[in-house]
Amino acid sequence: MVQVKICRECGTNYTNRYNSRYCSPLCAFWYQFDRSGGTDACWTWRDNKTNDGYGNVAGWLVSRLLGGPSRRQLAHRVAYQLHYGQHPGELKVTHRCDVPACANPRHLVLRTQRGNMMDGLERGRPIICAPGEKNFAARLTEADIRLIRASAMRSGDLASRLGVSRATIDAARRRITWRHVE
Ligand SMILES: [Zn+2]
Ligand SMILES: [Zn+2]
Repeated sequence: MVQVKICRECGTNYTNRYNSRYCSPLCAFWYQFDRSGGTDACWTWRDNKTNDGYGNVAGWLVSRLLGGPSRRQLAHRVAYQLHYGQHPGELKVTHRCDVPACANPRHLVLRTQRGNMMDGLERGRPIICAPGEKNFAARLTEADIRLIRASAMRSGDLASRLGVSRATIDAARRRITWRHVE
């Protein structure tokens, strides 16, 4: 029986005879992400994950989305490919946000390990591209960041009080760094 249904992801009407809840493979894919935080937040994969915490896309869906054989693929790599229309090949798709389950294309960068580090150095911020306490170069804690953002003090004053540079304070305030802290 052909039925008119409403796609769970995009809300359009579609007809199909299968027991599907989405109008297309694309909608079936994107529906699996929690995007409640908005366009710039992490979009985390809700479905099956690898031991390392990466989203795992079922083989049949990969094949419908990208063509080719039915073989499992990591969600962020699939997302990168769909969004940028470019196959990552041997290159790594890395996360700016350090959240393995995230596949927000805005947080994904295609790079070799070396390219990643070089890029950081060129911008004068060696290996501190990944924000957060886990980063060895981080001198501030998440609590400090909340305090900095809530404070009415001038950046220069906060900098000398916390023993960091003014640029560090400004970057945290403008959410260039520590984007994951609310
Ligand atoms: Zn749809
Ligand atoms: Zn993210």
